[in-house]
Amino acid sequence: MTSWNLTGLRTEQALSRYSTYEIGGEARFVGTPRSQEQLRELLEQAYRRGIEPTFFGGGSNMLFPDRPDPDALFLTTREMVDFKLEGDRLVVSSGMPMSMLAVIGYGLGISDFDFAFLLPGTVGGGVYMNAKYFDRHISDTLVNVHYVDLQRPSGIQTLGREACGFGYKQSVFQDNSSNWLIVGAEFKLSSISREAVSLLALPEWIALREGKLPPTRLPEFALHFIGWLEDKEGEKGEDSALAPLRKVVQDRVGKMHFTYPSCGSVFKNDYTVGEPIGKLADRLHLRGVQRGNARISPVHGNVIQNIGGAKAADVIELIHHVQDAFDRHYGFVPEPEVVVIEGKSSSYRR
Ligand SMILES: Cc1cc2nc3c(=O)[nH]c(=O)nc-3n(C[C@H](O)[C@H](O)[C@H](O)COP(=O)(O)OP(=O)(O)OC[C@H]3O[C@@H](n4cnc5c(N)ncnc54)[C@H](O)[C@@H]3O)c2cc1C
Repeated sequence: MTSWNLTGLRTEQALSRYSTYEIGGEARFVGTPRSQEQLRELLEQAYRRGIEPTFFGGGSNMLFPDRPDPDALFLTTREMVDFKLEGDRLVVSSGMPMSMLAVIGYGLGISDFDFAFLLPGTVGGGVYMNAKYFDRHISDTLVNVHYVDLQRPSGIQTLGREACGFGYKQSVFQDNSSNWLIVGAEFKLSSISREAVSLLALPEWIALREGKLPPTRLPEFALHFIGWLEDKEGEKGEDSALAPLRKVVQDRVGKMHFTYPSCGSVFKNDYTVGEPIGKLADRLHLRGVQRGNARISPVHGNVIQNIGGAKAADVIELIHHVQDAFDRHYGFVPEPEVVVIEGKSSSYRR
């Protein structure tokens, strides 16, 4: 591919920097548009060169290849972070960090997005996977999704919630993953008790607007948002609006979510089986099993950690190891939740 000279295009980028797994070799091209105009230019250039971009958001559910295809364009919407209030609706661009939704909710005096606090990743990736925390899903209050269809790049399309095919870790965007790029989402708010103008003054929003994204590395990411919470000294009581967020911190820190690089749960649960994957894995004594520098978490059988310098190949070996063990003992192969991107000479499927 000849070189491009476009705003929002970075070259020679270690993909590990864009991934909570901290795994991924050097990509020749990474598109990081900050606006729909920059996105349109990047997509036009890719289209002209016959390149199908690989989309991602916050990289918290991706396994990037050790040797990326040098002709590939990795395109992230993580820097598209605008938001606006329209009546009782919050309209956000797809790069809005999920945790910022909780901060915005706090600014508005509502608890609609408490579940998203400390959930790594962006709204685009959250919509794609219908991200959830206990019984709350991102689709609960979602009204519309705005996306670009690369097959019909004539403009931005809108899909209402009912047409999004949301289910457990499912959406219609997974069936159209190489063509539909989510650019924004609209949420219906339960109530509005503060003015939008007060949101625009939130220091967290000002920082984001100036391009200061929350860190990708999990320990720093956690510190960033836990620090925000700790700064709210005056609101410590059980009935404070921030109490639910403190519970989230306790839960996620207690489960060691931020101790090692990971993508969270590797496999989707299969509810027809009756037990979560982690529990089933425990019965097969899979915790602690290691391949190279990747390890099944000693505290959760559905998490594979990068314990320092792991390769994508190590994680893939462990994924196959778990799938083989489940197939032999339970008669089914768990479906990965993590999105594995194949590299120049690496194949994920056997
Ligand atoms: C410590 C930890 C804890 C986690 N806990 C949870 C949890 O409690 N619940 C949960 O549901 N998940 C959890 N996850 C997984 C992950 O954070 C979510 O799936 C999140 O929604 C992924 O968002 P992302 O922006 O990082 O997506 P990415 O990882 O960047 O991408 C994931 C998929 O979404 C697609 N995608 C991303 N952005 C777009 C876009 N703009 N348009 C089209 N497609 C797009 C990508 O193509 C890819 O297929 C956890 C992960 C970690 C590391």
